[in-house]
Amino acid sequence: MYKKIAAIFVLCITVYSNSAMAQKISDDKVILVIHGGAGTIVKKNMSAETEAQYIEALQASLRAGYAILTEGGSSLEAVEHAIAVMEDSPLFNAGKGAVFTHDGKNELDASIMTGKDGKAGAVAGVTTIKNPIRAAIAVMQKSNHVMLAGKGAELFAQNNGLAMVDPSYFYTERRWKALQRLLKKDSLRVELDHDEKNTVIPPVDMDSKFGTVGCVALDHAGNITAGTSTGGMTNKKFGRVGDSPIIGAGTYANKEVGVSCTGWGEFYIRQVAAYDVAALMNYKGSTVQDATAEVIRKIGAAGGDGGIIALDRNGNVAMPFNTAGMYRGYVTDKGEVVVQIYK
Ligand code: ASP
Repeated sequence: MYKKIAAIFVLCITVYSNSAMAQKISDDKVILVIHGGAGTIVKKNMSAETEAQYIEALQASLRAGYAILTEGGSSLEAVEHAIAVMEDSPLFNAGKGAVFTHDGKNELDASIMTGKDGKAGAVAGVTTIKNPIRAAIAVMQKSNHVMLAGKGAELFAQNNGLAMVDPSYFYTERRWKALQRLLKKDSLRVELDHDEKNTVIPPVDMDSKFGTVGCVALDHAGNITAGTSTGGMTNKKFGRVGDSPIIGAGTYANKEVGVSCTGWGEFYIRQVAAYDVAALMNYKGSTVQDATAEVIRKIGAAGGDGGIIALDRNGNVAMPFNTAGMYRGYVTDKGEVVVQIYK
């Protein structure tokens, strides 16, 4: 089946300018959009091999979600699988490739929201759950709560039969080296995992920088789901939790739109960024392009950076960011896959 789907896929790496950000991205109906993190992603720093790996991983994620949607699956299932593909890849700062905390641990956050019923689930600061997005879904479906953190979340995941791993599963050399570099430079500084201006000593090691993942999907029934998963920020400490597991900040969905964010989490929390996109569309009548561009503008004006993906109920997609690049892609109802990296 994958072969059949692959045959109709068209890969297209495009370049577009800042000024085009609030313009319509695709004339066709988009049914699934993903991001793999925003940051200092510039072509001159990227080897052809690394670029090819990212493109392949983004395509694999899009295909996983597309296959589910075209077989009549729900947007929730599509988001779960598209995100799990990226969580299982060491390339992204989520699941397997999560960054290290100040203490040399990996503490992961994730959240999910279904627009049709306004239900949501999230986990924060977990260290032994292989796919935190699945734990977030379990919290939404099998508990009376929205967010579970730390040990409680892990016990809950285990009791619900989710795949558990030893914390060492999340060790990757490149992330470990990224922490060591930061500890040497400035042990108090938190690497925001995104943008060159936030690093103390350039050049930034490209490998250490990016990768929170997110997905928004629209299914045959017209239902929208949004999800986000991350390892947070390199060198984070004291139980720091970013925007990714916070409903309204890193993730939001209603009947009109689904939103997933990536960027400097503290700014997204203060801006209530994901909900702000939905609010601008609801109260002001903004398009998804204008609403996301406005929220990115506000994040930037406050001193933060990052990106947003959003998909409305008509299949209009937006993917603005104010960093050098953002790993991102979408698939249309006709099976056209588009992957983009740079500005
Ligand atoms: N927003 C995430 C956080 O602050 C990081 C990211 O998007 O890369 O934890």
